[in-house]
Amino acid sequence: MAKKKQGTAIVVGAGIVGVSTAYALQTAGFQVTLVDRVGPCAGTSYGNAGAIVDGCTPNAMPGFWKSVPSMLLDPAGPLSIRWSYLPKILPWMIRFMQESRPERVEHNAGALKNLTGAAVADWGRLMKSAGLQHMIEDVGWLKVYETDEGFQATESVRELMTRHDSKYQVLTADDIRDLEPHLNPIFKHGIFHNKSRFLPNPEKVVHGIADAFKHLGGEIVIADISSIREEEDGIAAIGSSGTIKADKLVLCTGAWSKNLAGQFGANVPLDTERGYHLMLPVMAEKGLSRPVLHGEKSFVLTPMERGVRLTSQVEFAGLEMGPDFTRIRKMLPLAKKMLPALNTEEQDAWLGYRPSLPDSIPVIGPSPNNPNVIFAFGHQHFGMTLGPTTARLVRDIMIGKEPTIPLWPYRANRFG
Ligand SMILES: Cc1cc2nc3c(=O)[nH]c(=O)nc-3n(C[C@H](O)[C@H](O)[C@H](O)COP(=O)(O)OP(=O)(O)OC[C@H]3O[C@@H](n4cnc5c(N)ncnc54)[C@H](O)[C@@H]3O)c2cc1C
Repeated sequence: MAKKKQGTAIVVGAGIVGVSTAYALQTAGFQVTLVDRVGPCAGTSYGNAGAIVDGCTPNAMPGFWKSVPSMLLDPAGPLSIRWSYLPKILPWMIRFMQESRPERVEHNAGALKNLTGAAVADWGRLMKSAGLQHMIEDVGWLKVYETDEGFQATESVRELMTRHDSKYQVLTADDIRDLEPHLNPIFKHGIFHNKSRFLPNPEKVVHGIADAFKHLGGEIVIADISSIREEEDGIAAIGSSGTIKADKLVLCTGAWSKNLAGQFGANVPLDTERGYHLMLPVMAEKGLSRPVLHGEKSFVLTPMERGVRLTSQVEFAGLEMGPDFTRIRKMLPLAKKMLPALNTEEQDAWLGYRPSLPDSIPVIGPSPNNPNVIFAFGHQHFGMTLGPTTARLVRDIMIGKEPTIPLWPYRANRFG
């Protein structure tokens, strides 16, 4: 590896967090090798809803646990668990419950908002710099509610967003119709995040950033990294294509980060909240203009370039078990009711792995054991949003610049 002004770096994992980081480091004067076991966008960054959200709501909210039994029992509900995985996920769940205490919720919301509040500007800078401005849309992010009760249940979330300056507008049925005239007019209430952005083709965006990185002289290597080792003169990543060495290494392996992070002193309770998508045919007319969440049923319809994407579900089943598309397929009639012109003929089905920590906050910062190994994983439901912001923070750490956001809430050893 040729030495550049800032030295050499390995970035492991080429999802949105990894490609954004590799691009930021190469731009800052590092000679970067981006390593992925499959290639860019092979993981969770492939199939998400593409929303860049100025949000701050952690998943563990006060009283959340009360709705868990009914969600689990509803066969078309958004939450499921493979019962054989329960013993494994139980400690994570207990920790998650602890994070729903009001003081923890305030802390977690503040830490999230510090990141998401910077995301739209960071996306703008990255897309401009990489020449990809045409791949991001300024259309906002809409949540719609059929019932007064469904909307009223969001009161604590709206109060939290207001306290943390996360911008939104409350919409009436008429406002919703103005924004999305082809939705079934059954929706009485809406919440509109007009500052949010939308990527109609997340996969193309990740590949576009990876191409821009290569154009700057960065290298992409296909290798499954099994261990990371400290050497006298830097860090070595050992994997299926041999040993790669550099001055520094950034770990961006999403839901697969636990074991590699553990090799550098971090015992992080990382697990996965699995999520699904179904691709439906492109709608030439009577479709949507932005991602729209059905508030009561917790699924999203998104007008992607390649068709309408139905995304939903949090499934606790770890990284090894195969997909079960039963629940998301049960949502098709609900989606059809929401958008009557929708063609529900399934084109493609996908399972993704949100990398999630119980406090809903990612890990960003140096490993406890070695300042030359930097962690950047655990972005749960906000990873697409937070890729470029995370990359900027990692770059600042690596060039010795004071990050604009205090990093202590994201430290790896916060779990004790
Ligand atoms: C259904 C669904 C909808 C979503 N919608 C949104 C949304 O609208 N907005 C939003 O902000 N977020 C959304 N998300 C979350 C978001 O997609 C993820 O948080 C994000 O993609 C995580 O990115 P990442 O780069 O950390 O991980 P990934 O994209 O999973 O990338 C990790 C990479 O690491 C590689 N890797 C793993 N282990 C190794 C190894 N040992 N050696 C080499 N390579 C390795 C993998 O091949 C992979 O390419 C959604 C998620 C799901 C499931």
